[in-house]
Amino acid sequence: MAKVIIIGAGGVGRVTTVKCAQHPEIFSEILLASRTISKCDDIAQDAMKRTGHRRITTAAIDAEDVPALTKLIQNFGAVMVIHVALPYQDLTIMEACLNAGVHYLDTANYEPKEEAKFEYSHQWKLHDRFAEAGLLAVLGCGFDPGVTQVFTAHANKHHFDEMHYLDIVDANAGDHGKAFATNFNPEINIREITQKGKYWENGKWVETEPFEHMKVINYPDVGPKDSYLLFHEELESLVKNFPTIKRARFWMTFGQEYLTHLRVIENIGMASIEPVMHNGVEIIPLEFLKTVLPNPDSLGDNYTGQTSIGCRIRGVKHGKEQTYYIWNNCSHAAAFEETGAQGVSYTTGVPAMTGAMMMLTGEWAGKGVFNVEEFNPDPFLEKLAKHGLPWNEELGADIEFEA
Ligand code: NDP
Repeated sequence: MAKVIIIGAGGVGRVTTVKCAQHPEIFSEILLASRTISKCDDIAQDAMKRTGHRRITTAAIDAEDVPALTKLIQNFGAVMVIHVALPYQDLTIMEACLNAGVHYLDTANYEPKEEAKFEYSHQWKLHDRFAEAGLLAVLGCGFDPGVTQVFTAHANKHHFDEMHYLDIVDANAGDHGKAFATNFNPEINIREITQKGKYWENGKWVETEPFEHMKVINYPDVGPKDSYLLFHEELESLVKNFPTIKRARFWMTFGQEYLTHLRVIENIGMASIEPVMHNGVEIIPLEFLKTVLPNPDSLGDNYTGQTSIGCRIRGVKHGKEQTYYIWNNCSHAAAFEETGAQGVSYTTGVPAMTGAMMMLTGEWAGKGVFNVEEFNPDPFLEKLAKHGLPWNEELGADIEFEA
């Protein structure tokens, strides 16, 4: 029985709230806080209606205001914060957790607003302070980052003596019927995919131009899809925590229609994070674009198709070469029916709830700042499957690993 605060009333916040509310024996009281309280109220009402949970309250908070957030956490008497707002707030929320003496979990690593560059160093730096306070901070507990690392830890524990090659493959084979929309916060999404790509090979990072490498990858129940090499944050912690990995790459599908829109957006300067003056007011083009694009939380209705995300690994077991594939497929329509949100929010919110459950039941324990692959993968994967994201695995999988 624990009081938890969920911060962020977007698509992921909606799923996380509904999924926590399905388990009142663990999440006995929930406070959903975000900048816009009307969004919190809408989600809280809906979650209580869907689940019968009776103790979900709401609050307006700017999570970048550390004193106000510290007070909110203390007044509510929370034991942990589940942060599903934006990566910009990671450090202020961690600071408030340290002030209030509560545990912390998030789904995306810190990124400064003024520079589109995400890396774990800012949050790893807080390890000693969390350890000294006897608190646990779990970083990146969505799907990717998140489940992909737990999948890798599971592979390492059960199927390999040494892992050598890792490809994380992420397909969204859904159709929301909109000309252009992103499946999570548009500003964060466009910043991520317009950056240079990067992958790990033989002990160093190899940089690529955005969308330089494309491979047609065959996804289970989805079929072949154009997949592009991107840098994704979990690669950074995976190569640190599994040093036998010689090459680690991340691939994501994009359709031609999406890429054409993205190219136009970039060419006309709308993806820029440099401030410009508009009618005497300073605006950031990408922030303005976010305002006019569909809200990811509104995409669920009539969203068809599914996501398919997994890890393809090659290495050795008992001196013999081994290949392995572990993945989950998630239906957008089923996610919407259960929670009122589409599959990308669902595949993030279910692991966030599951990670929080691991922390509150003590199955994941520790003092300091950790990435999810540092914990025992077994109880997490068992609960993940039970609570909405069943996974499949294939030893000796026939998968390609050429560059
Ligand atoms: P949305 O944009 O739909 O929601 C973000 C929410 O955060 C909004 O409700 C917004 O507030 C709130 N917020 C923003 N700034 C503040 C602030 N200063 N104080 C309080 N609340 C704030 O995004 P998503 O739900 O799609 O994504 C949420 C997070 O999940 C992001 O960090 C994203 O990167 C991450 N993510 C992780 C994935 C994974 O697999 N690991 C996959 C997908 C997303 P309001 O509307 O109230 O103004």
